[in-house]
Amino acid sequence: MSEIKLIIDNIEVTGFERQTILDIARENNIDIPTLCHDDRVEIYGACGLCTVEIGDSPKLFRACSTFAATGMAVRTNTERIRQNRKTALELLLSDHVGDCRAPCSLACPAETDCQGYVKLIADGKYPEALKLIMEKIPLPASIGRVCPHPCEEACRRELVEEPISICALKQFAGDLNIEYIPETGDPTGKNIAIIGGGPGGLTAAYFLRLQGHGAAIYDAMPEMGGMLQYGIPEYRLPKKILRKEIAAIEKTGVIFKNNIKIGRDISLDSLRNEFDAVIVAAGAWTSTGLGCPGEELDGVLGGIDFLRDVATVNKYDFTGKKIAIVGGGNTAMDACRTAVRLGADKVYNIYRRTKNEMPAERIEIKEAEEEGVIFKNLTNPIEIIGGENNKVKAARLQIMELGEPDASGRRSPVAIAGKEETVEIDVVIVAIGQKLGKLGFDEIEKTRWGTIIASENTCQTNLDGVFAIGDATNKGADIAVTAIGEAKQAAETVNKYLRGEKLSRETPYLAKTEKTAEDFADKEKLPRIKILCRDADERRKDFSEINSVMTEDEAKKEASRCLECGCHAFRNSDCKLIDYANQYNAQPEKFNGAIDRCGQENIQDYLNLDSGKCILCGLCVRICDEVEGETLLGFVNRGFDTAVKPALTGLSDVDCGSCGKCFDACPTGALFGRLNK
Ligand code: SF4
Ligand code: SF4
Ligand code: SF4
Repeated sequence: MSEIKLIIDNIEVTGFERQTILDIARENNIDIPTLCHDDRVEIYGACGLCTVEIGDSPKLFRACSTFAATGMAVRTNTERIRQNRKTALELLLSDHVGDCRAPCSLACPAETDCQGYVKLIADGKYPEALKLIMEKIPLPASIGRVCPHPCEEACRRELVEEPISICALKQFAGDLNIEYIPETGDPTGKNIAIIGGGPGGLTAAYFLRLQGHGAAIYDAMPEMGGMLQYGIPEYRLPKKILRKEIAAIEKTGVIFKNNIKIGRDISLDSLRNEFDAVIVAAGAWTSTGLGCPGEELDGVLGGIDFLRDVATVNKYDFTGKKIAIVGGGNTAMDACRTAVRLGADKVYNIYRRTKNEMPAERIEIKEAEEEGVIFKNLTNPIEIIGGENNKVKAARLQIMELGEPDASGRRSPVAIAGKEETVEIDVVIVAIGQKLGKLGFDEIEKTRWGTIIASENTCQTNLDGVFAIGDATNKGADIAVTAIGEAKQAAETVNKYLRGEKLSRETPYLAKTEKTAEDFADKEKLPRIKILCRDADERRKDFSEINSVMTEDEAKKEASRCLECGCHAFRNSDCKLIDYANQYNAQPEKFNGAIDRCGQENIQDYLNLDSGKCILCGLCVRICDEVEGETLLGFVNRGFDTAVKPALTGLSDVDCGSCGKCFDACPTGALFGRLNK
């Protein structure tokens, strides 16, 4: 064959006659995308991604089926070509039924691979499960106990009967007697100060250490852990469990500096001078005030101050007293249930809407009620009345009703004119919100609510090299796992900052599917494993943990209920379709229409076909035929109804050698081995 010379993207390259442009480009490390090409089989030209421009021709050519010739000038990456590829991908994806990531993982603010660790537990691979969780959450046993698990709200198993106990499975993995201390990266010589040793600060430090940076946490309290240490009561999170996890983080080389308050003992400025970057994860430690007469009286406490005092000095004896906790969130429930355990005669929860609108978890409300908390919904304190020595004596409550929905979508509480109630009270605990303390962060730009303004994409503040995450930022206090998610993001951003790279983070395109109960009509109903909770009469008397941990058998059984919703190809980084979709910024929504092919079938012992993910590239059919010399897979029907099927009734009826070459070649997650080969 004679040699030819041509230009590809302004570079002179050589090849041989009868070679395609695609072949020569690949030999010269010039990337031309394709989903349907494989050197082992005849050219097919189905996907339409490999288009290129040649010379002055107004046409686009398929690089996989166009022979190169001397003197050709080929362009592989012009704006027109990129648009053409984008449209080709959008058309392929518009007819594509699949979930790149499982709904549970998408709902986790820390982006935990829930499906992955649930499956590993189902398979008895416990250390691997723990390791996978700790790729996102370095406090699995603690978070497994306190997280309100948004993952479970999104879990598809709900469409069969009940969601998987994803969070309790995390706790199970975290409670195993395994200490996993990951290896840290090569030292970079860079050092980062983290302000605040709560879940966010600890996580940021952990991931910075794994990247090889030095990380020192400054915290105002005597021990690390933040709200997990001082805001979550012992009966929900035993501190010996938390301390063990914190100690493991310290073993990665994080330096702990306790009893240091920013603005009192050290300034933000001095940390900026001493370190290469600073992450503020200070939390929200100041209780929001009640804003009614009498809130200055002796016996009015902030919710978070109360919980912190109980966790440290425990100076309260509520025996025989009447305690009112104002607020409807989880902190209010923690305060109510702590007051019960401190011997209170009566504990009231005062909330201006109904129980349905309470932001606290349903289980927290239910368990509080079982422990004897009296819910006074649709009431709002309008005055705290003082008695002898300026001590709280009673609370005047305004009776409310629900009006129109407000901006949050919840119906607004409206006062009923002239309707009030006075309740005898000894202590009022105000748990209606928390905010950042005043000291120490004057230079950082804040919202009108006093929280730090930090980019949701990069965690950057207005100060160069200062990043901020968690309860102290933007919308304020949130659940711990949100701070953990932001912390990992901040660690990644700081890493880029220190390398002088672009900081912004793109949100990738992911294929998603809506499912209904009908899709799972044939699934056997398997109720989830019940987590045992101590009897209310017993548990209200002490601070011992109230829930039990799953046994190994229970954990395996529970994990085996998982529907494995996310695509195995995405989890194995093995889908060219999604890689190209993101590379070309595909937005298939504009082509949305009827989906013709969907449904999974097991077409042979080891082989599954998910027709909804098939892009009809024909690679599997051609590999089977041209490489293996068999015709066990083929196309059936025509036009929109075309689908890949076993050419005969089923592969088990024929001599399939289980070589797996068909699913290895599949550029999407459509064909896959049952063992995830
Ligand atoms: S085949 Fe690819 S695009 Fe489709 S769901 Fe799987 S990973 Fe996502
Ligand atoms: S069934 Fe499994 S993979 Fe699907 S959402 Fe639930 S936990 Fe996640
Ligand atoms: S199943 Fe076959 S035809 Fe469908 S995408 Fe995979 S390799 Fe292509």
